[in-house]
Amino acid sequence: MPDLMEKVVSLAKRRGFVFQSSEIYGGASSVWDYGPLGVELRRNVADAWWSAMVHARDDVEGLDAGILMHPRVWEASGHLSGFTDPLVECRACKKRWRADQAPEGGCAAKASLPKGTDKSCELGEPRLFNLMFKTFMGPVEEEAAMVYLRPETAQGAYVNFLNVQQTARQRIPFGIAQLGKAFRNEITPGNFIFRTREFEQAEMQFFVKPGDDDEWWEYWRDQRMGWHRELGIAPERLRLHAHGPGELAHYAKTAVDIEYEFPFGWQELEGIHNRTDFDLERHQEYSGKRLAYIDPASGDRYLPYVVETAMGVGRAALVVLVDGYREEEVAGQSRVVLGLHPALAPVKAAVFPLMKKLGLPEIAERLIAELRRERIPAMYDQAGSIGRRYRRQDEAGTPWCVTIDGQTKDDDTATIRDRDSLEQVRVGIDHVVGWLRERL
Ligand code: ATP
Repeated sequence: MPDLMEKVVSLAKRRGFVFQSSEIYGGASSVWDYGPLGVELRRNVADAWWSAMVHARDDVEGLDAGILMHPRVWEASGHLSGFTDPLVECRACKKRWRADQAPEGGCAAKASLPKGTDKSCELGEPRLFNLMFKTFMGPVEEEAAMVYLRPETAQGAYVNFLNVQQTARQRIPFGIAQLGKAFRNEITPGNFIFRTREFEQAEMQFFVKPGDDDEWWEYWRDQRMGWHRELGIAPERLRLHAHGPGELAHYAKTAVDIEYEFPFGWQELEGIHNRTDFDLERHQEYSGKRLAYIDPASGDRYLPYVVETAMGVGRAALVVLVDGYREEEVAGQSRVVLGLHPALAPVKAAVFPLMKKLGLPEIAERLIAELRRERIPAMYDQAGSIGRRYRRQDEAGTPWCVTIDGQTKDDDTATIRDRDSLEQVRVGIDHVVGWLRERL
């Protein structure tokens, strides 16, 4: 269904969800800017994650570590030596791919190569390419000042493990959650916001007693799958993929991906990894600082194991867009709908005066002002037929449209129309905020 992807990309641009970065300069490859609706959607995905992972629990604490870290962090973590992808290059046209994503038997540009070029279009031997972006700290551009843009947020949690544990007075088992940008110089970014070089991660590191790790890994796998389902993602388009021995990252004992069936195939949405004590052990060795946890009850001293949940926020937003997109016929007219969960919808309610007379716009404006005071993201629209106004909101994923009509003047009620069921109910205008709050 590559067609669906094109439709989602086009809707995303048309309605201001996602724009290509630096578009007026021809675009910066694989970087995307989130527009007015997109930034709300992405923040709502991040907030839903934070609320489930931090606010709803007493055993997970939040953290916001810097993007730039001491360069030794990346030596200890193994990223400097091991965060590489095998890169293959087409000998004829010089195009590059990650080895597992290269087209079989050469690239498609073969036919369009200039005359006289070696048309064999053979792929060369894979060579390793480090995915970390480098830059310099301070004014001198020399090797000693080289730092890296973090390729994952997790390391911030490991180096702060004891800071968080002691200041928050947590006991094992407990976790550290973090939302933040990560950067990877991907060889083949693409599929819109699926794989980009700059992206936001939602990661949580859960520190457990060695021996309890397998059980916690299973627990977090189930929790995270449940979270995606609760957001309304179709269960038949979600599945688990356990990593075989050849797929495991250098730090992982066991790993499972939550995969989603994108229009371009089943792909990872989130990873749940048992990272053992690999990271803490390495930071202890490279920093020379003891990172062991002392159990206050038993006095036991040990390095905890870590179960990690790692999701890309932009990738999750893409899942929400693709999964929610549908086209349907309503009363002989076609409509495009984004069936977003109300918690994720950028605009929660739209307010329309049915006509621009009889004082209806004034009543609608008073209602929209109240919604803003109550901090319920809302939109006012009085342009065009009521049908067109509904269509505009359906495409943006707005769950409810509130219409002020002639009857409002008589009995102070408004019509609330549901995006999915199309059901209309009349609600007292003073109760609209409460009605919406009950459903958000
Ligand atoms: P892949 O094998 O696809 O490169 P990964 O297994 O290296 O990904 P992780 O390191 O487990 O990915 O990252 C955790 C999550 O971060 C992924 O599940 C994904 O949602 C997100 N993510 C990773 N790389 C990117 C990227 N380049 N663009 C957008 N999101 C990403």
